[in-house]
Amino acid sequence: MSDSTDYPYCYCGLRAEIRNSWKTPNCGRRFFSCLHWNGVGYKYFGWVEPPLCARAQHIILGLLKRLNEMEESTKRADIEKVELLKFEEENKKLKKLNLEFEEENKKLKAEILKLKNESTKKTRLLRILTDDEKMMNS
Ligand SMILES: [Zn+2]
Repeated sequence: MSDSTDYPYCYCGLRAEIRNSWKTPNCGRRFFSCLHWNGVGYKYFGWVEPPLCARAQHIILGLLKRLNEMEESTKRADIEKVELLKFEEENKKLKKLNLEFEEENKKLKAEILKLKNESTKKTRLLRILTDDEKMMNS
């Protein structure tokens, strides 16, 4: 439809526009519609072209189904991508936390070793003093 003067007028006074039907049995067929049309309430004002043959309708429905499946698949992939990014971010945080824990663990082990050494020295010193005392008393 190249000449807009052929477009009919709606009840509301606006000139109709052309839309595509995606419903059976007229899937793929164009119709005149109002700009105010939101899918309900308005009736169409006539078809732009004659009905499609059964084979054309069958092919269009098949393509529409595949398109919908691909869109669903893309949506799911996008959601999975976002989830994966979140997971990677969380993983990074946990790795950093783990490094901090390991560092803290090293420090604590070193502290324990230092305390054990001090304790051993003190025990030896105490033993020497006790032995000296025993010797002096004997
Ligand atoms: Zn209208």
